[in-house]
Amino acid sequence: MKTLYEIGETPPFGEIPPKMYASVIRPERYGPPEQAFRTEVVDTPVPGRGQVLVYTMAAGINYNNIWSAMGKPLDVIAARLKRGGGEPFHIGGSEGSGVVWAVGDGVQSVSVGDHVVLSGCMWDESAPDIRLGADTIASKSQSAWGYQESYGSFGQFSLVDDYQCHPKPARLSWEEAAAFLLTGATAYRQLCGWPPNTVRPGDPVLIWGGAGGLGSMAIQIVALHGGIPVAVVSSEERANFCEKLGAKGTIDRRDFHHWGQLPDFGDEAAFTAWLREARRFGEKFWEVVGSRTAPKIVLEHTGEDTIPTSMYLCDNAGMVVICGGTTGYHADVDLRFLWMRQKRLQGSHFANLRHCREVISLVDSGHLDPCLTWCESFESVGTAHQLMYENQHPGGNMTVLVNATEPGRTELP
Ligand code: NAP
Repeated sequence: MKTLYEIGETPPFGEIPPKMYASVIRPERYGPPEQAFRTEVVDTPVPGRGQVLVYTMAAGINYNNIWSAMGKPLDVIAARLKRGGGEPFHIGGSEGSGVVWAVGDGVQSVSVGDHVVLSGCMWDESAPDIRLGADTIASKSQSAWGYQESYGSFGQFSLVDDYQCHPKPARLSWEEAAAFLLTGATAYRQLCGWPPNTVRPGDPVLIWGGAGGLGSMAIQIVALHGGIPVAVVSSEERANFCEKLGAKGTIDRRDFHHWGQLPDFGDEAAFTAWLREARRFGEKFWEVVGSRTAPKIVLEHTGEDTIPTSMYLCDNAGMVVICGGTTGYHADVDLRFLWMRQKRLQGSHFANLRHCREVISLVDSGHLDPCLTWCESFESVGTAHQLMYENQHPGGNMTVLVNATEPGRTELP
């Protein structure tokens, strides 16, 4: 038995080589992604009870591993070591596709040889809150695989819990299958998971970063439900991309200048100036929708720069639903807009298994485009994250090939 196989060199079926290649982050390299990620040889993890070892074919690129690379706001390696587990390094990658290579004791839901899509959250199925009926993704035991947990999809083998394995739609290439689940299921939960504020026919929805991973999925999900997606962008190229996906229209955020925290309390002139700009943004929204209607849902992930506008613009009894804070976490909320107009500010994090399966099914049936626009070799993990970090990436979702060394494949090489 060989100790190590080259990327794309498939070991005899079921054989687990003791070593594997992985794109690794170490504390001494924390910083911009191009500096932080390096291909290294590490020990191949061994699946324990309820776990599955997956021969990774392709891996999705997501914003969370920009944070891992930077080592802030959370030093993911130190946090894991403090919890008493994990390795002194991080292998990121919170979604991927591959072949089940080995299963631990007690695994019944998948078998060696199954082709799977991997979802990006873990929890303890015997956690007290889950036993009492909590939504698994809201459990105190929940953590993000490939971010808070290591051995993500940026390795020749990925280590997951069995419930993270979903049947791979056969018609998708490995890289398409690895591209959409994290952003797609997150956007799906944001838009469909918080009744009564779920997207319905005729509902206008404001989508920040419409051309991004989340945004490209959100535009399509809103349109599928008969809603009116309005996307915010920062270039004409991205505006065209969003419109092709089904956005009713776009707003170019470069035309506005009221971003960031609200003016100091008591500075009336500054607040009036802020309000004038926020109203102008709202008028642009009306123009795109074609009527003086406010967004029923605002899909937020940009955070500090945009929350004041989101909270102002959202319709009475509507919902601002947020899953991230790309521009910062220290956002201001003018509580008057919240209570007087009875709005909802809802946190949302990834998705439960039902949401994942519904999104996979939408992609499998051709209703939801995985929006894969960038796919490069395994060595490009750092470059991909660097592009995203600099907001220079193409619209939609990005992947790297791992053991599927050529794009377009659906089987083992
Ligand atoms: P992405 O592909 O990079 O898209 C983000 C978009 O945000 C960009 O396309 C950019 O569009 C826009 N943007 C950047 N700076 C902005 C600013 N100052 N103001 C307004 N818009 C700005 O990333 P993504 O995959 O969609 O993820 C977005 C965020 O959501 C990240 O912070 C990520 O960590 C988070 N997220 C969380 C979860 C979860 O489960 N909690 C899941 C997925 C993502 P324009 O420049 O064209 O406006």
